[in-house]
Amino acid sequence: MALFTNSCLSTSPTNSASPTNSAFTSAVVASLDTSKQAAAHRAEPTTQPSTQPETCTQPLRNRRRGSSLPTDGIDTIAIRGGREIDPTSGAILTPICQSTTYVQDAVGQHKGHTYSRASNPTVSALEAALGALEAAPDAVCFGTGMAAITTLFLSLLRAGDHVVLSSVLYGGTVRFVDQVLKPLGIDALIVDASDPRNVDAAINERTRLVFIETPANPTLILTDVEAIAQITRARGVLLAVDNTFLTPVILRPLDLGADISVYSTTKYIEGHNATVGGSLVTRDETLLSRFRLIRKTVGSIQAPFEAWLTLRGLKTLPLRIRHHSQSALVVAKFLEAHPLVARVAYPGLESFPQHTLAKKLHAHADPDNIAYHGGIIAFELKGGADAGRTLMNSVRLCSLAENLGAAETLITHPVTMTHADVPKAQREATGITDGLVRLSVGLENVRDIIADLAQALDQTFDQTRTQTLESKPASSTSKARTRTPKSSARPQLISKIPVPAT
Ligand code: PLP
Repeated sequence: MALFTNSCLSTSPTNSASPTNSAFTSAVVASLDTSKQAAAHRAEPTTQPSTQPETCTQPLRNRRRGSSLPTDGIDTIAIRGGREIDPTSGAILTPICQSTTYVQDAVGQHKGHTYSRASNPTVSALEAALGALEAAPDAVCFGTGMAAITTLFLSLLRAGDHVVLSSVLYGGTVRFVDQVLKPLGIDALIVDASDPRNVDAAINERTRLVFIETPANPTLILTDVEAIAQITRARGVLLAVDNTFLTPVILRPLDLGADISVYSTTKYIEGHNATVGGSLVTRDETLLSRFRLIRKTVGSIQAPFEAWLTLRGLKTLPLRIRHHSQSALVVAKFLEAHPLVARVAYPGLESFPQHTLAKKLHAHADPDNIAYHGGIIAFELKGGADAGRTLMNSVRLCSLAENLGAAETLITHPVTMTHADVPKAQREATGITDGLVRLSVGLENVRDIIADLAQALDQTFDQTRTQTLESKPASSTSKARTRTPKSSARPQLISKIPVPAT
């Protein structure tokens, strides 16, 4: 199968060869009373096209998209896919169309955009580019990743419906399900989706959607998207995959049979800690229409400047993802070998329990079949939560912050930061322990990242040892101060870790 055959790069507006769930997708959406309005509310160009020359208000969605690109390579698609040279100025970058409204040629005659809550040319350009990355006719972009997720659920579910979720999800998704969906009368069942049989068992006659995240945030547990897609198709249920951590450079959920790819573009896709944003990508036109309608209704579209920055960031996505992945593997090996580290979760490590699945799942999108595993590592120190806290307070180059997937290496404490609202029992049952540390390995020189972690681990070691000594009775403390036991000597590992030249 040619993974990168891309409808958006051909003159055909849709990818008829791509797997879609159209029949039952249409059935799911058609069963929602409002679905017909979706098509009616879409800001399509009027049947009598304007004779005006193309301007930045021209609907990019309806233009020929990079139809002459002679490649299906992801690096080229990331730079060129869905992009048009601006016809009025020749600008190589899509202009920022900072306009609320669009003047119509005559009553009922417009160029495809009417009001920027419904659509905006710069946002449409980003949507075409994100669609191109996954051989989808289009994407729908939002102000945040959570806006994409809430729009997805609100588009497809109504009171009495049932949704199956993988057990480790981004904390905001869990909060949305608990605080918004459940009070609306939508049931959710959380299962360990790393075993596909659990998903099969959880689906009932009211289930409309299975929503999974792989690797899970923050434990990095993997879910076999292809195996789950076989189940959802057989059971007539939609499958959405939050692919924020891997991006289409590593994993292409739609190629594996999923119906919708979900992104927080805030992370790797924009990649520079400059924007928040989200997107839904699908090959199904009915779903695209439905998502646009609900976005317009709840008012969750992305702003044009954010879309422009994201379009710019997207150009280097494949380069960045490979670099993040290579550095993360080196850092994961360093941590694994460190005597203060109790456990490291990184799908690229041979010790990772699902390493075999990772090699299969993460190689399918790469033209050379190389498995990259992304830039996120989770680890726990032997001193548990206290040691983890000391480590996170001791880093100098890495930044203690909540985001991930950007140029800067970020270190996060999921329990107090990203997953603070996940009930403690649910956290503990899914491996999000108090001592878990999440590291988003950035694009700095990997030697510098390791040197910083090494000095922070040294400080953690010193502090933990001082606390241990201070908590001991005076006699044993003075003895310990004069004779440091060999086993507690400060680890000097940095020089021993092989760091490849970058
Ligand atoms: N999905 C995942 C996997 C995330 O990590 C996040 C945020 O951290 C989101 C969705 C939500 O995205 P945003 O913060 O852009 O709303």
